[in-house]
Amino acid sequence: MTSLAAVFHNPAQPLELRRFPLPVPAEGETLVRIRCSTICGSDLHSRFGRRHCPAPAILGHEMVGEIVATGNGGAHDYRGRPLRIGERVTWSMVWSCGDCYFCLRNLRPKCERLMKFGHEPISPAGALHGGMAEYCLLPAGTAIFPVPHNIPDMVAAPANCATATVAAVLRTAGPVKGEVVVILGAGMLGLTACAMAAANGAARVIVVEPVEERRQRALLFGAHVALNSESTPGELAAAIRERSQNRGADAVLEFAGVPDSVEPGPDLLRTGGRFILAGSVFPSRPVRFSAEQMVRRMLHFTGVHNYAPEDLETALVFLRDHIDLHPFADLIGPAFPLAQVNEALEYAEKTKPPRVALLP
Ligand SMILES: [Zn+2]
Ligand SMILES: [Zn+2]
Repeated sequence: MTSLAAVFHNPAQPLELRRFPLPVPAEGETLVRIRCSTICGSDLHSRFGRRHCPAPAILGHEMVGEIVATGNGGAHDYRGRPLRIGERVTWSMVWSCGDCYFCLRNLRPKCERLMKFGHEPISPAGALHGGMAEYCLLPAGTAIFPVPHNIPDMVAAPANCATATVAAVLRTAGPVKGEVVVILGAGMLGLTACAMAAANGAARVIVVEPVEERRQRALLFGAHVALNSESTPGELAAAIRERSQNRGADAVLEFAGVPDSVEPGPDLLRTGGRFILAGSVFPSRPVRFSAEQMVRRMLHFTGVHNYAPEDLETALVFLRDHIDLHPFADLIGPAFPLAQVNEALEYAEKTKPPRVALLP
């Protein structure tokens, strides 16, 4: 038995399709047949050389699969419930040890022994850790969750990156019930954030985004107002004050990841407001904020990277309960067979839909 997989060597060459022997899971390990994976922006950054990625590696960390084999003792979900062979599951894209300096200080996303699916080099110890393959081996201690039945594969695939990251950002932002929340960027994460902020009771969700088509789509995902990010920072701040009793937003959630979109963030906040940054995940020029304004207006800045296992659980419950409220399925596609992974990556890079899917 073997698994087809797409191997990344360097940004100058296409992925190489190769077969790997299927591993026999050791105790605690779980072998999953991938039903669907989706191409994340960070896969595109790696493939096209905008950020460093260890190589050779199997890229892809957004995926959903079904359990085909387990080590002695079987597989269990994050809450300790036994999982069956054939059960549809997703899992935390970051593996953390649970007992290092950072894990013990509530910083599991920054574990000293962190392992990230789709970011690990192929080694004699193992290869099948990425989503661009037919199978994935989950190491012992992976936080696994069953996928609710009403979430289709293509919607479930990005849950363990996009949806869970948004859940981590909203957890970090604190309760938003009754608040004015500004979302910077209306890509996959920004749209999900609009829907989740609305679900969490935000009184007003305002999205800021340069692309008209994306602004329109955000209105289908719970945004009440969509503003053009190409307006001047003064115009943006005025538009938000107008909708917040002249105070400014309670929270600004940043998913755009480009300095021009990040920089106006603090000016949109009310005094004491929270600025949560999550979009800037590849190198770019430094951004400029006024330190004096941060001090005088007592602003809070927090960065969020990766997420904790509980955030994936929140993400799955959110999708289960809101799947019919917003057109989540429209965000995924087209789907390519795994054998056409290079065409899929080129398409995703050129056309920039929220997510392109791969079906092994
Ligand atoms: Zn991702
Ligand atoms: Zn740790």
